[in-house]
Amino acid sequence: MSKKVVFEDNKTIPADILEEAKIALSYYPQLKDVEIEFRYKDDIKKSFMQAQPKFSNLFKGKKDRSYYIFISSRFVIEEEEFSMADIPSEVLIGWLGHELGHIMDYRDKTAMGLVIFGMRYITSSKYIKEAERAADTFAVNHGMGDYILATKDFILNHSHLSDTYKERIARLYLSPEEIIVLVNKFEEDLETAEKEGG
Ligand SMILES: [Zn+2]
Repeated sequence: MSKKVVFEDNKTIPADILEEAKIALSYYPQLKDVEIEFRYKDDIKKSFMQAQPKFSNLFKGKKDRSYYIFISSRFVIEEEEFSMADIPSEVLIGWLGHELGHIMDYRDKTAMGLVIFGMRYITSSKYIKEAERAADTFAVNHGMGDYILATKDFILNHSHLSDTYKERIARLYLSPEEIIVLVNKFEEDLETAEKEGG
C-alpha cells in the first residue's frame, strides 16, 4: 500500500496520487482549511471513489468537520479489475475534482441535513442524480471542466468497464453534453464578470 503524505498540514494523501490530488486541490482554495483524508478502501460499493464526512466530528459544526475521500484499492468495478497505472493522470485529477465538488456541497449542509442526505442517497436515484449534478457543477465552476470531461470520456468509452457500470453512469450522472453546457455557461459568466469588472 502506498505511503501517506501530509500536504499543507491538513490533507493526508497516498504518495502514488499526490501530484494529481495537489492539482485537483489547487482548484479549490476554499478547501484550504478543511481537513481531508484521501484513503484507499477495499469495499466501496458501485464506484471508484466516494467522499463523505467523518462521523466522529460531524456534529462539531460546519467549520470543524473533516472529510474522507475513499478510493477503491482494488479498483474493481462490476468485476472488471484494472490498476491505477491504467488511469491517465487527467482522468484521475477529474475524478478527484468531482469528489472535492461533493465536499463543497457537504460544507453547506447542517449535520442533520447530511444525515438525511446520506439516507436519501442510499434509497433514491433522484437524490443520487441531484448530488452528482451538484458535484460536477462545483468542479466545472472551479475551472475543472476539461478534467471532468476527460473523466467522463474515460468511463463511457473505456472498453474495460462493463455495460452495466456505463449504463449506471449514464443514468445517474451528467452526460458529456450536459457538462459542455455547464462549461459554456461558466465561461460566459467569466467573460461577463471580466467585462463588468472593467
Ligand atoms: Zn459523485
